Amino acid sequence: MVLSRAQSESSDSSVHSTFASRYVRTSLPRFRMPDESIPKEAAYQIINDELMLDGNPRLNLASFVTTWMEPECDKLIMASINKNYVDMDEYPVTTELQNRCVNIIAHLFNAPLGDSETAIGVGTVGSSEAIMLAGLAFKRRWQNKMRAQGKPCDKPNIVTGANVQVCWEKFARYFEVELKEVKLRDGYYVMDPEKAVELVDENTICVAAILGSTLNGEFEDVKLLNDLLIKKNKETGWDTPIHVDAASGGFIAPFLYPELEWDFRLPLVKSINVSGHKYGLVYAGIGWVIWRSKEDLPEELIFHINYLGADQPTFTLNFSKGSSQVIAQYYQLIRLGFEGYRNIMENCQENATVLKTGLESTGRFTIVSKDRGVPLVAFSLKDRSRHDEFEVSDYLRRFGWIVPAYTMPPDAQNVTVLRVVIREDFSRTLAERLVVDIQKVLQELDALPSKFLVIAAGDNGAAEKAVKAVKAGDSDSVILVKKSEVETQRKVAEAWRKFVIAHKTNGVC
Ligand SMILES: *Cc1c(COP(=O)(O)O)cnc(C)c1O
Repeated sequence: MVLSRAQSESSDSSVHSTFASRYVRTSLPRFRMPDESIPKEAAYQIINDELMLDGNPRLNLASFVTTWMEPECDKLIMASINKNYVDMDEYPVTTELQNRCVNIIAHLFNAPLGDSETAIGVGTVGSSEAIMLAGLAFKRRWQNKMRAQGKPCDKPNIVTGANVQVCWEKFARYFEVELKEVKLRDGYYVMDPEKAVELVDENTICVAAILGSTLNGEFEDVKLLNDLLIKKNKETGWDTPIHVDAASGGFIAPFLYPELEWDFRLPLVKSINVSGHKYGLVYAGIGWVIWRSKEDLPEELIFHINYLGADQPTFTLNFSKGSSQVIAQYYQLIRLGFEGYRNIMENCQENATVLKTGLESTGRFTIVSKDRGVPLVAFSLKDRSRHDEFEVSDYLRRFGWIVPAYTMPPDAQNVTVLRVVIREDFSRTLAERLVVDIQKVLQELDALPSKFLVIAAGDNGAAEKAVKAVKAGDSDSVILVKKSEVETQRKVAEAWRKFVIAHKTNGVC
């Protein structure tokens, strides 16, 4: 019997194994929409399978962003995945939950609120949007002030440390504000408050301090900054305010260091942002910005939507967004409570200590994160003469671990660090296992030829290095060449090294 084309197609999708169906057996165009539909099972399988090649989020130790939530919360998220947050009229309860979150977080940050006063703040897609909004509020407030004084207001600037997260550079470029960065130095990787205050001038819209530097988790000294700036404001008659970028530290400090004054307890702190999707313990897609008081958010930036006879003020960059993250944030806040957050943060801190102690016991690393700060461990190799941190990072990937290596910003560019962020779902067992795997990586690297060949004629102090290497029995990493041949020799050496690594890798399989 000869089947018609239609019959054969339907039998193809319903009878054959998904993998043997023609939809999966042939490849789809990658950059153009395919002409025909495919069955849902095939679409699912094709996409699911390609995604298997992504890293495992739970092993992604590069990220602060939450990768695990309780199944009950996953259920709430799925149930609200089809709710557009902006339809406040239709979903008033969701709006109410966001307002509760804003108030809970404002109290956590010690906003000076009277008993019946509600907090000023908004949920955002993340700290980046929160920072754009806070920055805009500072810019507008400064412009209004300058105009009132009949002064020019076309050259606003913002003072930060060179360790700021990229979103501040984005804010500066998109909203035309000059970014004045305090340089770092060897051994000091956060903004120096004294130097920051020196950079402040009449056109400074705010100084941004970071509670939990992205680079090494360290808290900047907001209290000292506040005190120095109060003094300068008094001397100059300016009223330069402070913003605290507490993207990662905003959900750490209140629980682990309640005595630390970094928030609205300091009078110059006018706004604070925090990432709900970092230590707020919600999946990617939520942040918060809180203002100290109504006066700190210029009225003209707020759009008023009238719904059900009530005034709904909005101040966000985009219109539609999902509701799930807001609901999930509310879940975490009430499910965990203060006690729950504190337990989780303490556990993260303990796991960071386990990892740090393990790394120190190898004798091979210098720790560049601090005990007080965001629970992460940032570390550098003590001896970089044969291998560097990028290589350790590469090798760890083969065990499944994603541990980033990066160089510090100016003026500490000569420092490279590896960074492991400890999240709620990074258990003690995993911390111990990571130490074991790092030890294995070090052994493997030790057995390899050095990444850096000492090329005598090319390097500064090369002769000295060569003598040292030979004395250490490492003469195969020394080649003496004429200056004119340095480049060629480097290439040959690099190719040889690649060959050795490839050979070794294949040998294992
Ligand atoms: C992560 C981070 C940001 C950006 O936050 P998103 O929530 O990812 O937009 C800004 N500043 C600091 C200090 C951060 O750690």
